[in-house]
Amino acid sequence: MQSAAVLCADIGGSFIKFGISRKSGQVEELARVPVPKSDSRELAEALRNLADDADASGILPIGLSTAGLVDPVTGKGLSANIPCLTGLPIAEAFSQATGRSVFAANDADCLTLAEANDGVGRGHSVVFCIIIGTGIGGGIAVDGRILRGAGGVTGEWGHGPALNTSVEIGGRQIHVPRFSCGCGQSGCVDTIGGARGIEKLHELFHGEERSSHRIIEDWQAKDAEARETIEAYLQLVADPLAVAINTVGPSIVPVGGGLASAAALIAALDEAVRARILNRLDRPLLVPAIRREDGGLMGAAVLARQGVADARAA
Ligand SMILES: [Zn+2]
Repeated sequence: MQSAAVLCADIGGSFIKFGISRKSGQVEELARVPVPKSDSRELAEALRNLADDADASGILPIGLSTAGLVDPVTGKGLSANIPCLTGLPIAEAFSQATGRSVFAANDADCLTLAEANDGVGRGHSVVFCIIIGTGIGGGIAVDGRILRGAGGVTGEWGHGPALNTSVEIGGRQIHVPRFSCGCGQSGCVDTIGGARGIEKLHELFHGEERSSHRIIEDWQAKDAEARETIEAYLQLVADPLAVAINTVGPSIVPVGGGLASAAALIAALDEAVRARILNRLDRPLLVPAIRREDGGLMGAAVLARQGVADARAA
């Protein structure tokens, strides 16, 4: 039954991507519509229409990837980007509205499922997928299944006061303030780990605004200032990431998010992290995710198949 067709939706901050997976390892995007963010009934209606257009039989289950957390006990969402999901028992509400079985999980967890089952993590028992993009996030899969921690919070190495407050660059100690974070704490990796974070560090060290794209390019071209910025970035991010890796014990760390396309940066971060962890590896541990484009849909499809299998087994 692993290969039975399932529907899948990726509810992001702007769009619902909707698709169908006709067999394991395959997904096809069928439609993309704006997300009704503030009215859950409109969102349910949009999903029902998308599902009915894709499947006239009305029986295929839906896997949902959502921007925001999903509590594994109550099923309730918590989403800053899509306010109507907050407090909503997502799977239950959408199941009622669509008349189908619905299975929901956080978007980082869905990318983790996609990578663990049909990406670079395939064949690995413990996969710690990290997102380095606008924000910092992550998810953990064990034997192809996501680990659903308390409150839906698992693999979130981007939050918590983790950062060192000084870095050593060319023999100088440079003070880095603990920037305040959207989560209410300060010193989170999220505050400096993404593209905006690189720009923030560059401005702090050199008093100059430069785009992250340029900083990374200039670093590769051995520009002195960009090198300092990226060296500091690598120290600040590799320290807490090494602790997370020692704690989780992955044999592979797929990297998603916008900065995953900066291959040289990910390779440098991989090297910095491997120098800090207890396991000695002579191969890359951090590897760009290969499901960066369709990870939400693919992970949602995996989630739906696993949910159906679990329901049958119960
Ligand atoms: Zn935070």
